[in-house]
Amino acid sequence: MLRSFSYYQPTRIHFGFGKLEEVGRIVSRYGKRALLVTVPPFPALEPVFEKTKRLLRKSGVEVAHFDQVIPNPTTESISRGAEMARDFRADVVVGLGGGSSIDTAKAIALEVTHEGTAWEYHLFGERKVTREILPIIAIPTTSGTGSQVTAVSVLTNPKERFKSAIVDPLLFPKEAIVDPDLVMTLPQHLTASTGFDAFAHAFESYIHVNANPYTDLLALEAIRLIVRFLPPLLCDLSNREARAQMAWADTLAGLSIANCGTTLPHGIAMSIGGKAPWVMHGEALSVVYPEFIQRTAPYALERFAAIARIFRPELSQEKDEIAAQELGDIMVSFLKEIGMWFGLEDLRIPREELPEIAEYTFKLPDYTVNPWVPTKEEVLSPLESAYSRD
Ligand code: NAD
Repeated sequence: MLRSFSYYQPTRIHFGFGKLEEVGRIVSRYGKRALLVTVPPFPALEPVFEKTKRLLRKSGVEVAHFDQVIPNPTTESISRGAEMARDFRADVVVGLGGGSSIDTAKAIALEVTHEGTAWEYHLFGERKVTREILPIIAIPTTSGTGSQVTAVSVLTNPKERFKSAIVDPLLFPKEAIVDPDLVMTLPQHLTASTGFDAFAHAFESYIHVNANPYTDLLALEAIRLIVRFLPPLLCDLSNREARAQMAWADTLAGLSIANCGTTLPHGIAMSIGGKAPWVMHGEALSVVYPEFIQRTAPYALERFAAIARIFRPELSQEKDEIAAQELGDIMVSFLKEIGMWFGLEDLRIPREELPEIAEYTFKLPDYTVNPWVPTKEEVLSPLESAYSRD
C-alpha cells in the first residue's frame, strides 16, 4: 500500500558548469549587503572567493568577507561571524565552501536575528527558532553534505565535546548554486570522504523508517550515480562528467535527507566528530558502515537487498536474504576501492573514548529511526570491532 507523506523543498536550485556567474543577480534579489562566509583563503579556492566578490560588487551588492570558518564549525567561530554580520548590517548571507562554510552561514543568519547564541537552538537546546532569519544563499565546493538544500546546520560545542544540529525549515537556503567547476580542485581524499558522506545520506534515507516514495526516488538515484561515478572519478580527478554527476548525486541525497533524515551511522559519526574534531565526517561514517550493515540488514531485508543489487545487478537472481547478506562484503570492497577502509585507531581516536562515543550517540535522535534500534552495548561492541582494520 502506498503510504501517505508530505514533501517540502523551498530552495531554488541552479545547477551546472558556469552557474557561479549568476551569483550577483541571485544574491541581489535578497539584499544589498552580503556577508560572504568561507574558510581562510588558500590557493585552490582563493580565486573562487575573489571572483564571487567581484561578481557581487558588479551587481551592486556590498560585501564583507568572514573568512574564519573552521572544518566542523564551533560555536565560537559562528559567534565571530555573527558579530561581523551585525557590524556590517548584512541583509543576506552567502555560504561558499564545503558543508562547514554553508552550515556556518546558516548559523550566523540565525544568531544575528535571534536572542542568545546559535548553539542554544540545537536539537535539544533551550530555545526555538521563532521568526525569519537572514536569507541564505548556498554555494557548495564539495559534493558531500547536501547542506545547500537542507534545513540543517551542524555545529560543535567544544566545551561539551558535543556535535549537534539546528534543524528548522527556516534554515533552508533560499537559493543554491551548484556549479561543478567549483569542485574540480577537491583533492583525492576529500573527494572520497565527501562522496561517501553523500552515499551515506542516500543510503540512510532509503532505509529510514520514515522513507517515502519521493525520498526513495531521490535516494536510489543518488546511490546509483555514486556507485557509478565515484570510483572512476577517484582514478581521474579531472573527469568533468563524473564531477558533475557527483555534484548532482550530492544534491539529490541532500533533498532526500531534508524530507526524511539520517539514521544510526550519522548519530555515531556525529558523536565521533564531537570527541575528535580532526576527523572528517565522511571518515567517521566509513568506519561505522560495515558493522552497521551487518547488524541492521536483517531488519530491512528488502531495502538492503535493493541497494546490494545496484552494486551487483546479478543479485537480482537471488532472494532478498542472500542479496542483503552480500551487502556487508560489497561495502568492504567499495570502501577499499575508494580508499576509505580504515579503523578508529587510524583516525587517532583513543580506545578509552569508545564508551562515551557510544553514550553520546543516544543524545541525538538518529538511532530511533533506524530499522533496528540498538542498546548502548549494541553500539559499543561494533565500535570495538571497528577499532583496528587489517
Ligand atoms: P568542509 O566544509 O569541512 O571542508 C573540508 C576541507 O575541504 C576544508 O579544509 C576546505 O577548505 C576544503 N575544501 C572545500 N572545498 C574545496 C575545494 N573545492 N578544493 C579544495 N579544498 C576544498 O567539508 P564538508 O565535508 O563539505 O563539510 C563537513 C561539515 O558539514 C561537517 O561539520 C558535517 O557534520 C556537516 N554536514 C552538514 C550537513 C547538513 O545538512 N547541514 C549534512 C552532512 C554533514
